[in-house]
Amino acid sequence: MTYVPQRMDLQLKRKRGIAPSPFLPCPFCGGTDIEIVVFDHRDREGLPAARQCSGCGCQGPWDYIPNEGCTTLIDKLWNDRVAL
Ligand SMILES: [Zn+2]
Repeated sequence: MTYVPQRMDLQLKRKRGIAPSPFLPCPFCGGTDIEIVVFDHRDREGLPAARQCSGCGCQGPWDYIPNEGCTTLIDKLWNDRVAL
């Protein structure tokens, strides 16, 4: 029986559905396709990563994040940088 996995899958889909693209447009090319880049391997502090515009390749400030699915910190760094 696979009732439990099905329920988890539904929850994941619902979570993605209520998460709109939180990014301000790229200050250089106006792109809104903002991807994640991971610079190196995980170390004691986490995963060094930043947000990057896939249109022109400019990057926001980097910081350590807990994992690739938890990007709240670098999302905020991108938006703060763009808003300057
Ligand atoms: Zn750009």
